[in-house]
Amino acid sequence: SLNFLKKPLKFKDRTSFINYPNNNTQRYPYRDFFNESQSIANILNFKKKDLEQQRVAYFFGQNFDYVRSQWGIWAAGGTAVPLALSHPIHELQYTIENSKSSMILTNSENYSKMKEIGTNLNIPVIEIPKVGEYTIPKSQWSSMEDYKQYSIDSNRNALIIYTSGTTSKPKGVVTTHANIEAQIQTLVDYWKWTEKDHILEVLPLHHVHGVINVVSCALWSGAICEMMPKFDSKQVVDRLLESGISTDLDQPISLFMAVPTIYSKLIKYVNENITDPTERLAIENAFKRLRLMVSGSSALPESVRNEFQAISGQVLLERYGMTEIGMALSNPLKVNERIGGTVGFPLPGVQIKIQPELNNDDNQNNNQNNNDNNNNKEVGELLVKGPQVFKEYFEKRKATEEAFTDDGWFKTGDIVEKDLSTGRLKILGRSSVDIIKRGGFKISALEIEREILDMDPNIQECAVLGLPNDEYGQDIAAIIVYKKSKKQPMSFEEFKTNCKQRLAHYKVPNKLLILENEIPKNAMSKVNKKELLKLFS
Ligand code: ATP
Ligand code: MG
Repeated sequence: SLNFLKKPLKFKDRTSFINYPNNNTQRYPYRDFFNESQSIANILNFKKKDLEQQRVAYFFGQNFDYVRSQWGIWAAGGTAVPLALSHPIHELQYTIENSKSSMILTNSENYSKMKEIGTNLNIPVIEIPKVGEYTIPKSQWSSMEDYKQYSIDSNRNALIIYTSGTTSKPKGVVTTHANIEAQIQTLVDYWKWTEKDHILEVLPLHHVHGVINVVSCALWSGAICEMMPKFDSKQVVDRLLESGISTDLDQPISLFMAVPTIYSKLIKYVNENITDPTERLAIENAFKRLRLMVSGSSALPESVRNEFQAISGQVLLERYGMTEIGMALSNPLKVNERIGGTVGFPLPGVQIKIQPELNNDDNQNNNQNNNDNNNNKEVGELLVKGPQVFKEYFEKRKATEEAFTDDGWFKTGDIVEKDLSTGRLKILGRSSVDIIKRGGFKISALEIEREILDMDPNIQECAVLGLPNDEYGQDIAAIIVYKKSKKQPMSFEEFKTNCKQRLAHYKVPNKLLILENEIPKNAMSKVNKKELLKLFS
């Protein structure tokens, strides 16, 4: 049994969540959070006598309803299946059906949308009561502090989170309570969460980044989790400006976690809207008050890292993780020990191994490839082991078996480079889409992306991918979006000349596509390169 679900209890009257229903700030103490989730557990137990190991899908905005429902499902013994707010009906239906959820939880705002799916799939849709409409009288609250249901077997399934679907149809990743407890404990220790922390939560909650790294770590440590209904640059900046000043009711915001796109948007907002130097300074100082800002989920371009530091004084902490394993690699908490463009070291409790790629039909050129780097580096697929690693892909026995080596290492599919003198790791990309094979060379798309972004400040975003080429194996294609400015975009020849100044000749893209608007991305702001291939056909 484990104490994870009981944990929030000991923080009693401290604020757990800050919420903005209808732009109206509300604060919920930990005691209320516990009781609210308990009342949801009671409703669930009432609806289904034996919820144990059953799956409950739930659909809410980024708010308190989401979190109390998730805890309620756990307290009732169920497996929580969070749904993505931004997904269209057919994708939601896929998740619910694929996870064989036996019911859907939602609130009044989303009831009719869910009812449609519930009717299609013939499963009940349960609307949770509004906060304060307790099913348990307040007089009984104190006795609940030793509620028996909170001793849940740690090997029981806790969550099914669907992968981002960047490389294929999203897979349901099953983690147990023991898995997520290990994921949370590691981050709380390494990033030194305490009850003095206050995080501004802007991430979607159907994914580890939001659910584990932000919400669960906050609850584990008794911190405040302030939930923005959705990310908005202006709101974030305005909120940071007022946080920590004397009239603010709460302890100052100390933490922020996001994906690279969010940092780009913040840079853009500040650069385009705030011209007054005094205001800029105030914003910089507001950012500086935070003790930690984290970036992950995809590669952080150097230009974003530098420009963000210029407007905020913050050195973003880069880390690497995935749905299947939680967070695995992280730069140190100490600012001067962070190295941009790397993801640092394995987190405590995470074992790693680097598996050199076996299928070398191109040994000759690989030697050249190695000289191109230097011999002080180890390159290969990252394998991971440890208590954080997930149990299985939901009802996908074959996929689960294939994901592990015979001796139990999880194969991440990501190619990493370890600097043997420092032990630091760098992500080169996914073996399936980011490692381009051309003329016998294995080329990291992420490295080319980094250089392209770095060589021209007018480039807003860029994606590099491999296209089939009969003669060389693959062509290197670059897709580019320019910032909205009057400057003329480079010609392809100019582009190649610039690339050649930074990249070895065989890494220079030989196809270029310029897009007018953003590069299409999924709900987790990730670029699906297999989809992008279609732009060239
Ligand atoms: P799917 O598995 O459905 O294709 P996905 O792999 O994008 O989608 P996630 O589990 O959300 O789903 O993402 C994990 C992946 O994100 C990692 O395997 C890695 O490729 C990438 N990633 C995470 N952090 C970083 C980082 N700091 N730098 C580069 N890539 C990262
Ligand atoms: Mg994946």
